[in-house]
Amino acid sequence: MTQFDAKQLANVGVRNLSPYQAGKPIEELERELGIRDIVKLASNENPLGISPLVKAALQDTLAGLARYPDANGFYLKSKLAKKFAVDTAQITLGNGSNDVLELLARTFVNDQHEVIFAQHAFVVYPLVTQAIGAKGIAVPAKDYGHDLPAMLAAITPKTRMIFIANPNNPTGTFLTSEALHDFIRQVPANVLVVLDEAYYEYVPEAERAPSLEWIASFPNLVVSRTFSKAYGLAGLRAGYMVSHPDVADLMNRARQPFNMNSLSLKAAEVALDDDDYLHKSIAVNAAGMQQLVDFCERQGLNYIPSYGNFLTIEVGEKAGELYQQLLQEGVIVRPVAGYELPRHLRVSIGLPEENETFIRALTKLLG
Ligand SMILES: *Cc1c(COP(=O)(O)O)cnc(C)c1O
Repeated sequence: MTQFDAKQLANVGVRNLSPYQAGKPIEELERELGIRDIVKLASNENPLGISPLVKAALQDTLAGLARYPDANGFYLKSKLAKKFAVDTAQITLGNGSNDVLELLARTFVNDQHEVIFAQHAFVVYPLVTQAIGAKGIAVPAKDYGHDLPAMLAAITPKTRMIFIANPNNPTGTFLTSEALHDFIRQVPANVLVVLDEAYYEYVPEAERAPSLEWIASFPNLVVSRTFSKAYGLAGLRAGYMVSHPDVADLMNRARQPFNMNSLSLKAAEVALDDDDYLHKSIAVNAAGMQQLVDFCERQGLNYIPSYGNFLTIEVGEKAGELYQQLLQEGVIVRPVAGYELPRHLRVSIGLPEENETFIRALTKLLG
């Protein structure tokens, strides 16, 4: 009799994957400790909560939920196209930007290919690469960020895709527009460059790369963005990719037809117009960042200067222990040992009082 062995049946790439480690949910810690008022600064979520405009629009959408969503996301794509001066045919929508990143890899990469990303880069890049059975090439970081010349040097005839997060998570490091442009210019046209701009809205306007404009000169460039961070919709799952129309067309064939649901489509549409909420998010983030940076300076703690909505702080070899101790104090942050940063903790920027709770707890634990 043949024995059933799921692991043997699974694709090799998937067999050897480790599951994604998400930030610890508030409810889970509440159950474990039997306490309330937990502060979660672990998943780079927007501390303002959902925008009132979005909330009202969601209420209005509930009545239509018996129907399938618009598989083509007509209204959302039209809004995005107008706002960012691109063509709707360049846009691919996703159930969060992770969905489009995975879809892109599934569309273009196979087990014969290599995929390049940086050390300390977002874990989804190695994850989607490995799931396909492709070979991931992690290029050692420079000052915690991308070493672009080294990444160029890592390109081989087998390279099919390069992932770059700008700003990067979990380090918050940022590449200037000039450095990025100089890099993309030198990448062969048959290698896709994926620019993940999940934290785009937090970058000061003067420093943002005109990445969407570059697609006209570099058809191998694709740009992904999300509604999970500055737009405050992490729980709904909404993201998008802007690319050459041919890239979008191919992804559209491989895509699940209803990968964005009716609520996330509507929420994203309304959020795009909600400038007040966006500006407030950016202002709260800037103030909270200063609060945490000031704390680090006072405490003599090293931190990685960040362009995102989080700060990665060097707390020393006891980082893992401190993470656990912070949980006991009701504060959830993110250990980043899995990112080869065993001495750091990543702290998302919260509301002023949440940041203060974290600061008080860490100060107490550090003695
Ligand atoms: C948070 C984040 C995303 C966004 O993920 P969603 O699936 O859109 O929620 C993408 N890339 C990076 C680097 C991130 O940190």
